[in-house]
Amino acid sequence: IMNPIERPQVTQELSENVVLTTLDDLYNWARLSSLWPLMYGTACCFIEFAAMIGSRFDFDRFGLVPRCSPRQADLLITAGTITMKYAPTLVKLYEQMPEPKYVIAMGACTITGGMFSMDSPTAVRGVDKLIPVDVYIPGCPPRPEAIMDAIVKLRKKVANESIQERGMLQQTHRYHTTKHQ
Ligand code: SF4
Repeated sequence: IMNPIERPQVTQELSENVVLTTLDDLYNWARLSSLWPLMYGTACCFIEFAAMIGSRFDFDRFGLVPRCSPRQADLLITAGTITMKYAPTLVKLYEQMPEPKYVIAMGACTITGGMFSMDSPTAVRGVDKLIPVDVYIPGCPPRPEAIMDAIVKLRKKVANESIQERGMLQQTHRYHTTKHQ
C-alpha cells in the first residue's frame, strides 16, 4: 500500500514515463505515419508521381511505401486522365482498398477533365464523380513539391479525424456507389 506522503513522487515519476492520449490520436498518428499509396497512373501526371518516389524528393520520410496491390494500399493518387471506359476499373481499384482510405486528385485532368473537358466525349470530367476525394492538386502536371504539399495536408486531415466518423463516411459512399451501379 502506498504511503500518501510518497504519492507526489510517484505521480512525478509517472508523468515522466507515461504518455496519455486518446484512442483516436493513437490511431491517427499510426495511420498518418504509414500512408501507403497505390502505384497507379494513367497518363503524363504519373511521370511526376514517379519522380516523387525517387531519392531526390525522399517521400519515404513520411512513411509512404508504394504498393502494387490495392489490397495493401490506403492512398490513391489519381495521376492521369480518366476515360469513361476506364472509370469502372478505377472504382473497382478503390473498392478493393481497405478502409480507412484516402484519395488525392492529381492534375487538371482528374479534377475537371483538363484539356479534354471541352471536346472529348470520353474523358471523365472530375474523379470526384466516381470516388470521394480528400485533397486536390491543381496543375498540368503538378510538380512533386505540390504532391508533397498535398500529402502534408492529408496528414493534417488524418490527424484531426475520428476513426468512427471516417468509417461512417465510407459506408455512406459505399451506399451511393452501390445504389448508382
Ligand atoms: Fe497530362 Fe496535364 Fe492531364 Fe496531367 S493534367 S495527365 S500532365 S495533360
